[in-house]
Amino acid sequence: MSRFLCAELAALKPYVPGEQPQDKKYIKLNTNESPFPPAEEVALAVARREKSLNLYSDPDCRALKSAAAALYGLDEGCVSPGNGSDENLAHIFAAFLKDKGVAFPDVTYGFYAVLCSALGIRRTVVPLREDFSVDVADYASVTCPVCLANPNAQTGICLPLRDIEKLVLQNRQRLVIIDEAYIDFGGQSCAPLVKKYDNLIVVQTMSKSRSLAGARVGFCFACPEVAADIERVRCSLNPYNVNSMSMYAAVAALGARAYFEECVQSVISVRGYTAERLKGMGFEVLPSSANFLMAKRAGTGGHELYEKLKERGILVRHFAEGRIADFIRVSIGTRAQMDRFLGAVRDILGEE
Ligand SMILES: *Cc1c(COP(=O)(O)O)cnc(C)c1O
Repeated sequence: MSRFLCAELAALKPYVPGEQPQDKKYIKLNTNESPFPPAEEVALAVARREKSLNLYSDPDCRALKSAAAALYGLDEGCVSPGNGSDENLAHIFAAFLKDKGVAFPDVTYGFYAVLCSALGIRRTVVPLREDFSVDVADYASVTCPVCLANPNAQTGICLPLRDIEKLVLQNRQRLVIIDEAYIDFGGQSCAPLVKKYDNLIVVQTMSKSRSLAGARVGFCFACPEVAADIERVRCSLNPYNVNSMSMYAAVAALGARAYFEECVQSVISVRGYTAERLKGMGFEVLPSSANFLMAKRAGTGGHELYEKLKERGILVRHFAEGRIADFIRVSIGTRAQMDRFLGAVRDILGEE
């Protein structure tokens, strides 16, 4: 660290992303990517745009806003695009939370806490229930904005739409940010509610259910006034934040509905299969509506299992934090990948 770095950033612990090994071939079940390639239409869209890379991308991102808005019957004016939804979150936190702080669960997406440190935002941590679910009633007395991932990150547990609406209605003077990175794998999106409630912001990504993690595209939905505030931040920091190849890749992927359905259905069915097999081997598995499973087994350490799987060429994620330190998080791959994973787990347990 140089002596020039500002104090706020010198003190923060940066977000640690899952490994993206560039050397050896692993079965990658550690960062909740899709195991499936992007829709066929995506390659064509990218090739077409490549020829006009001498020009700046559309700073209004009209094509992307329009395709994203159409998902939920919203107007383009309700959308702000991001270079991945992490950037949407940064815009939102910068726009609305700097002077008010934010509340979020003790177990959730680690990036929220990092953003708070980076932007000097006060945070209130609200513990999940014993069973790792969110109790909306815990937020009734919270007056600062609330940020929830739904399904929640690191647990996969999803709140029903009526609970989200309850949260939004608890206090109409308070913003509620719902991060729906995993919503397509089993939850019901609350995006249409932005037509009814101006204190709701919904964030979604192309990275998980639409096989475009490497393209870096996300978007958020809000009422037109709130969306315009987010756009104000976006255009102040980087008006060309979504490059033209990624923008048209995203538009093509949003159009490929049958392929999307097929991929999502596969993840859901392989998730059920994997959970059953893990339970059969004595694991406790949290009920997941996402493209990953959190699993632990009495007598088998989370970190130890992570290491032994890695030795066998399989990458999963382990979080050293308190309540989830005994778990491993395994992303749902193809059926063949999950059979390799299950075989390796069986092999490791057999050694004990
Ligand atoms: C993966 C993830 C994101 C970030 O996705 P991007 O690739 O930046 O779009 C945001 N929130 C949660 C809960 C996630 O799991």
